[in-house]
Amino acid sequence: MTLDVVLRNCRVADPFGTFECDIGVDGGKIVSVSRTIDSQADLVIDASGMVVIPGAIDGHVHFEMAYGSGISTADDFDSGSAAASCGGVTTFIDFVTPERGASLLDAFEERLRVASRKARVDFGFHVCVVEWGPRTMAELQRLVDERGVGSIKVFTAYSKRGLMLDDGSLLQGLGWASDKGVLTLCHCENEWIVLRETERLADAGNVDVSRYEESRPDVSEAEAVLRVGYLSSVTGAKTLVVHLSSKKGLETAATVRRMKARLHVETCPHYLLLSKVVYERPDGGLYVMAPPLRSKDDCEALWSGLSKGEIDVVGSDHAPYSSAHKLRSRDFREIPGGVQGTEVIVPLLFSEGVKKGRITLEQLVRLTSYNPARIYGLYPSKGRIAVGADADIVLINPDLRVRLGRDVLHSRLDFSIYEGLDVTGYPVLTLSRGEVVAQDGEPTSKPGRGKYLHRSSGHQDST
Ligand SMILES: [Zn+2]
Repeated sequence: MTLDVVLRNCRVADPFGTFECDIGVDGGKIVSVSRTIDSQADLVIDASGMVVIPGAIDGHVHFEMAYGSGISTADDFDSGSAAASCGGVTTFIDFVTPERGASLLDAFEERLRVASRKARVDFGFHVCVVEWGPRTMAELQRLVDERGVGSIKVFTAYSKRGLMLDDGSLLQGLGWASDKGVLTLCHCENEWIVLRETERLADAGNVDVSRYEESRPDVSEAEAVLRVGYLSSVTGAKTLVVHLSSKKGLETAATVRRMKARLHVETCPHYLLLSKVVYERPDGGLYVMAPPLRSKDDCEALWSGLSKGEIDVVGSDHAPYSSAHKLRSRDFREIPGGVQGTEVIVPLLFSEGVKKGRITLEQLVRLTSYNPARIYGLYPSKGRIAVGADADIVLINPDLRVRLGRDVLHSRLDFSIYEGLDVTGYPVLTLSRGEVVAQDGEPTSKPGRGKYLHRSSGHQDST
C-alpha cells in the first residue's frame, strides 16, 4: 500500500506527553501512528531532530474587518491565512458581525463566500450577537443546524459601535446558548468604567496615547469577568472570556471557576510579551488594542496562569491596521484598536514559554491545539496527532534562531510590534490535511484550499 505521506522519526508532543513514532497520512487523514511504518509514500519527510505538534488552532482572528469608514485590517483571508500557516496555525476561526437590524444569515453567507475563495487553511466563524430577540434566536438556530456554527460572541462594551448587549439581553443569550450547547465568547470590559475614565482623562486634556491604559483599567475587565461568570453560572452556559489582559481579571476568573461556572479563558501573545511602557514611545499608537497592554507584573501573572491551567487557550486577536492609521493621531480615542499575532503564537509560546521553562511542551500543545479543538467543537478531527484525525501537523526546529520582524512575517502590515525580537525554535513545515502549506518560512499553498468547518455544539470540554 502506498500512502500519500509518511513522516519518519517524529518526536510528537501530545497533551499527555511526548513519544517517538512514524506518522502515516492518506486522504488528508492520519491513518497510522506507530514505531515504524514500512509503507511506501508519495512524500517521505524525515522529522529527525524536530518537535512535531498538532496544527495550532487560532480561535480569534479578524481578517478583512472594517473599522468605520474606509479603514480595514491589513490582512485579508488570503494573506492572513498564509501568515497563519507559516506560524503553524492550520485552523482559524474568524467572526461574522452583523449590523444591528440586519440578517445574521445574510451576514454569515457573505462572509463565508469571501473566506471560501481565499482561505489557505481550514476555518470557521463565531457569530457576534449584537441584539437579542425572536429573530436573532430563529436565525441562530438555523446557523447551528445548517451551518455548524458552534459559538456566538457577545460584548459588554462598545455601546457606541452598536456591539454591546445590556445585562438582560446577555442573560437571555446565555440561556439560549446553554440550552443549545453553544459556546459563548465574551469581550469583558465594563463599558461605564471605560466611558467614565475616558471622559475624566479627556476633561483634563490627557488623551495622549501614553495615558491609554488608564482609560480601560484592569478593574473594568475584572468586573465584567465577574458579571459574565455569575450570569453563566445562573444559566449553565459555557463561556470563554476572550483576550484576558490582567492579573485582576485572571484572579476573578479563578474565583468564578471555583463556583463551578463553566468559564474558559483566552489570552493573546501581546499580553504575555509586551507591557504598557510602549505607549510612551513616539510610535506608541502602534500598540493600541482593547483591552490595553498592562504591567510586567500582569504579563508574569498570565504566564503563571498558562502553566497552572487557569488559562485554556492562546488566540491572537489578529486585527492589524497600517502604521498610517495607527499613527494618524496621538489621541487614543482616534486610533483603531488591534494588532497582529496569528503567525507568532507558536514561535512565541515555544521560545518564551517552553525554552524559558515557563510552560511545558505538552502545555503548549494544550493551549494551541487540544484545548481549542475541544472548546470550539472541532475535536477529534482537530487537536491531536492520532489515527482518524485530520493530518494537520507542524514540525518545529527547536534550535532555529529567527529574528522576528516585517521581513520574516507574512502579514501585509507595514510594521511589526515584535520587530527585532529573537526567538529560538520555529515552525519549518506545516501540513494541512496532509498537504504542505508552508515550508521554511514561506507559504506553499493556494488561496481557497481551506475548508469551512462545521462544528459540533455538544460539550467536548468536560474536563
Ligand atoms: Zn477580537
